Amino acid sequence: MDYDDNNVFAKILREEMPSHRVYEDSYTLAFMDIMPVSKGHTLVIPKSKSVNIFDLDEEFLSAVIKTTKRVADAIKKVFAPSGVIITQLNGAKAGQTVFHYHMHIIPVYEKAPFQPHANDVEDEAVLASTAKEIKQILV
Ligand code: 5GP
Repeated sequence: MDYDDNNVFAKILREEMPSHRVYEDSYTLAFMDIMPVSKGHTLVIPKSKSVNIFDLDEEFLSAVIKTTKRVADAIKKVFAPSGVIITQLNGAKAGQTVFHYHMHIIPVYEKAPFQPHANDVEDEAVLASTAKEIKQILV
């Protein structure tokens, strides 16, 4: 599959679409998932035109892992989840729905039911305040 420059994450990278950013460096961007599976659900993407892990340059892959660890550490400190799922899907048959490579950071809370994908768009104010809490740890 060819990379589509008009996928939503490409637009978020170019700031043509809004997002709640929590961390950024020259290789990666981390922002809140618009339909969070749980409080703090964050996505980490490379600043490269990669559909999935198979066309992702190793330099960007290592940067994504480093940012993922950094953001997951912050999420752990802020929200004290019981566990954290770190995962990514490659290909439509594996459940991938946005075709710009991304890593999911999904905190798991003992009392909250877990579901692999959510369908409800979260309230803007909730996403903004969640992003703010994570960002405060990352500065
Ligand atoms: P995938 O199924 O490809 O692994 O995950 C795509 C993720 O992107 C889903 O969790 C979905 O909620 C999220 N998502 C889809 N569209 C948008 C969007 O416009 N903005 C943000 N922040 N997240 C999105």
